[in-house]
Amino acid sequence: MQYRLGSDLKKDFPILSTVLPNGKKIVYLDNAATTQKPLSVIERISNFYKFENANVARSAHYLGEKTTIAYNEARKAVANFINANEDEIIFTSGTTESINTIAYGWGENNLSEGDEIVVMTSEHHSDFVPWQQLAMRKKCKFKVVPLNLDGTIKMDELKKSITSKTKIVTCAMMTNSFGIINPVEEIGKIAHANGAIFALDGAQSVPSMPTDVKEIDADFLSFSGHKMLAPMGIGVLYVKKSIIEALKPFLTGGGMIDEVKNESTTFACAPDRYEAGTPNVEGAVGLVSAIEYLKGIGMENVLEHERKLLEYAYSKLNGVDRVILYGPKDFEKRGGILSFNIKGIHPHDVAAVLDSNGIAIRSGHHCAQPILRALNVDFMATARASFYIYNDESDVDALVDAIEDAKRRF
Ligand code: PMP
Repeated sequence: MQYRLGSDLKKDFPILSTVLPNGKKIVYLDNAATTQKPLSVIERISNFYKFENANVARSAHYLGEKTTIAYNEARKAVANFINANEDEIIFTSGTTESINTIAYGWGENNLSEGDEIVVMTSEHHSDFVPWQQLAMRKKCKFKVVPLNLDGTIKMDELKKSITSKTKIVTCAMMTNSFGIINPVEEIGKIAHANGAIFALDGAQSVPSMPTDVKEIDADFLSFSGHKMLAPMGIGVLYVKKSIIEALKPFLTGGGMIDEVKNESTTFACAPDRYEAGTPNVEGAVGLVSAIEYLKGIGMENVLEHERKLLEYAYSKLNGVDRVILYGPKDFEKRGGILSFNIKGIHPHDVAAVLDSNGIAIRSGHHCAQPILRALNVDFMATARASFYIYNDESDVDALVDAIEDAKRRF
């Protein structure tokens, strides 16, 4: 199949032609924070408001019907994208809300004192803090699995951490700090062998690689639209059908009920039961366009492209004076995230110099303080360049030149 990647795609993304006030053309390498949107997604959202806008599953008029159909079709498209059934897909505002839905809707009702929750040190705060807080509320043991020096999970420690008291194991499929792809199928098997539920944070992986919830055998999977070309404010929580009854509605109100009486309320069937209030329909239809765009490329090609750029960046930066690169050297374990430091320069200063060269990266703790603390990373922060489908080798070249500029200036 013919597909396009890198520079061939740039023209689909109007924002990538931005010329900055200093005259430099933007090089966007902050894709792990959020990706840019192609014209097809922008136009889909614009057309939604021009031709379709109405509330869903309420209004028996032409526009109401049209919107409801589009919203239901969006659920099907998302299900198909991750090999799930449509009644296993709950729309949320993003990964953070998805994970909190599990922590409150499942955790509050299925955990009790003395139970154990197992998380990895490398989790994003959104897959760490909700579990830590849940453990505190329910008096559960909060176990954090340690890492090897390259940021990968210590699998022998993980095996020791998961016991018959473990009720849930949660893990990112790809970490957002170093872009490490975790052995999630193996972790899921260990969790299930001990009778625990396995929750997967797919925020960084779903945008960059094929996802098959059946193959991984995840019980929950959370991800965000904005990291995969779709608008902000739309996200997904996949819940395996066999455990969906154990998930109680976290938010209650309109749209999620069957019958409301003064004394009591019965709830609608899944997934409506979990989507109280007016949903983000514009986000859902935008997500469908994003999925169609990504499918046109092929998810396996997205990962391969990101890796090629990472390998190219390594070929230029590995061993370079003062440059520290984080994460395993085995690229099979990596997505397109280059986390680095320059000795003696705070990553915020690195980001400022890069910005003056037109290059957008993120600097800081990447909402992942535990991994940076555990690995004793300088400044408890890194500079992070993250590649996506529209980046190419010229973007990496610009990054490498700007790193040299930072070294000269500090
Ligand atoms: N987990 C991971 C691995 C992430 O990369 C992110 C976003 N950076 C999140 C969770 C949180 O996603 P959101 O802010 O879209 O809710």
